[in-house]
Amino acid sequence: MFKIRNTPEINNSSQQLFSLKNKICVVTGGSSGIGLSVVESFASMGGNVIIIYNSTPVDKIAIEIEKKYNVKIDYFKCNLSLVEEIENLFDLIIKKYNKIDVLVANAGIGWNNGGINDFKSHEELIQNWEKFIKIDLSSVYYCCAFIGKIFEKQGYGSLILTASMSANVINIPQLQTPYNVAKAGVKQMAKSLAIEWSSIGNGKIRVNSVSPGYVKTKLTGKMDPTLTDKWCQLTPLGRMALPQEISGAYVYLASDASSYTTGTDIVVDGGYSCV
Ligand code: NAD
Repeated sequence: MFKIRNTPEINNSSQQLFSLKNKICVVTGGSSGIGLSVVESFASMGGNVIIIYNSTPVDKIAIEIEKKYNVKIDYFKCNLSLVEEIENLFDLIIKKYNKIDVLVANAGIGWNNGGINDFKSHEELIQNWEKFIKIDLSSVYYCCAFIGKIFEKQGYGSLILTASMSANVINIPQLQTPYNVAKAGVKQMAKSLAIEWSSIGNGKIRVNSVSPGYVKTKLTGKMDPTLTDKWCQLTPLGRMALPQEISGAYVYLASDASSYTTGTDIVVDGGYSCV
């Protein structure tokens, strides 16, 4: 049984509901691809954004976006495969900004995993599994653990996890079981935490995931073009998405427009999962 709560007053202006003004939004993997597009979309809605990056420097991008939208864009370096670095990251952000309204746990690595029968040694077998689980699943869980304490203390917050359509369907012709398993875990993590945190405060902590289909980013850019042609043939809308076609779902989930949305996965895949 869940707590019964009073219905809040909500205004009907979409402009206000979707606004991210005065919000502090943190985006992991924010230096490229889907994450970078989310950063710019948040900024365009008035959000102050903190980019978490690993290797690619983001100082120039940050200045550009800051000037374009007149918001604050900050950045912190963090290797999300290390739990100590994640803990330190959230400590530093809270020391500097006192709050986090939105966390997008988006960083991840690609899915060219090979088949389960292809391994030639125990080392190769273990490495191929653990590499993907470590970044695409465990690092997301650790980010959730540290943001959870912050949200609990604040009594509010929106957590958005980047899953994938691979959480729901099997992409053909790739062999990518570790990636699919990790992303299915991420989707289920969002649902589990939505329920786990629903009892806190006034019901203002929400957790959701976004499941993109094939998107033109660095990650897919590494793939053989004959493979990308196949992806387009298998996608009802007949093409790959641009990152900007994915980031609107994140704006909705980050903003007050989604105050009654929790435990949901938003699929943005050009219809791939329908067939
Ligand atoms: P991308 O390569 O542009 O972005 C991935 C980001 O994750 C990079 O900025 C990278 O620096 C960061 N990252 C990776 N390992 C890290 C680590 N150890 N520490 C810190 N940061 C790290 O690719 P993208 O397509 O924008 O991917 C973003 C997310 O979207 C990923 O989780 C990916 O699985 C997911 N996704 C992508 C697609 C697609 O078709 N591109 C489809 C579904 C889901």
